[in-house]
Amino acid sequence: MLDICLLGTGGMMPLPRRWLTALMARYNGSSILIDCGEGTQIAIKEKGWSFKPIDVICFTHFHGDHISGLPGLLLTMGNAERNEPLTLIGPKGLERVVNALRVIAPELPFELRFLEITNPEETFEMNGYRIRAFRVNHNVVCYGYSIEIDRAGRFDVTRAKEKEIPMPYWSRLQKGETIEADGKIYTPDMVLGEPRKGIKLTYCTDTRPVKAISDNAAGSDLFICEGMYGEPGKEQKAVEHKHMTFTEAANLAKEAGVKELWLTHYSPSLIHPEEFMGDVQKIFPNAYPGKDCKSVELDFDEE
Ligand SMILES: [Zn+2]
Ligand SMILES: [Zn+2]
Repeated sequence: MLDICLLGTGGMMPLPRRWLTALMARYNGSSILIDCGEGTQIAIKEKGWSFKPIDVICFTHFHGDHISGLPGLLLTMGNAERNEPLTLIGPKGLERVVNALRVIAPELPFELRFLEITNPEETFEMNGYRIRAFRVNHNVVCYGYSIEIDRAGRFDVTRAKEKEIPMPYWSRLQKGETIEADGKIYTPDMVLGEPRKGIKLTYCTDTRPVKAISDNAAGSDLFICEGMYGEPGKEQKAVEHKHMTFTEAANLAKEAGVKELWLTHYSPSLIHPEEFMGDVQKIFPNAYPGKDCKSVELDFDEE
């Protein structure tokens, strides 16, 4: 189960009752944060989630509304007596930017590990999930992220018997273990059927609509996408500032064939995003305006 909370939905600056865009996901005791603008730690506190299990922080890009909350969050994590290393993922220059911010948070009781993305697409495997970064099109280098959890195939008794796998090894193989015994090597695929559909979340903000987004969001259970502008007549502004309108986000969701779309990263001038959902839902019916603290648990499909 991937437990998701859209911590905030604001773009550019935090507002009363609207924190800056950030997302937190929890899986099997490990937490992932994507973006960390000013006030993100207050949003986490409001949600009632813990800072300590945050193992990975991914940054879409280095605009202040997506990273200026980091030094404060690191200090809080230090105060929570975290000792395990923290992995930071982001565009090239990440270590330089974070070290500059760390002038005000120099001593931490845990190590920072930096993974700088240099290619248009990169994949990182850790803690039982896969993080895929894909470059989008903003006025600085910017990436979207997918988080994927695979699901192994069903246990296949006939197959296990055909391959003459000794029964005492069945459950260990089913759990993914490789066993070396009796001069043979037994691997999980010898007792499992085809892999089943897993869980996929895609988060993408601060970009024009580009093909890399719909390609990478394809098959997502949830697609969280920026919608800086909802009001009609803002199309040109979206082009100039390298952002998106609600309808552009809806078209991406439709192209990608996702299950559900949440909009986020609203312009501070957009007070009531829900008023502009009519046209969006005509393009992609399962679209909702993101709200601060909007949460969902994504599970494997029932069979
Ligand atoms: Zn932004
Ligand atoms: Zn930006």
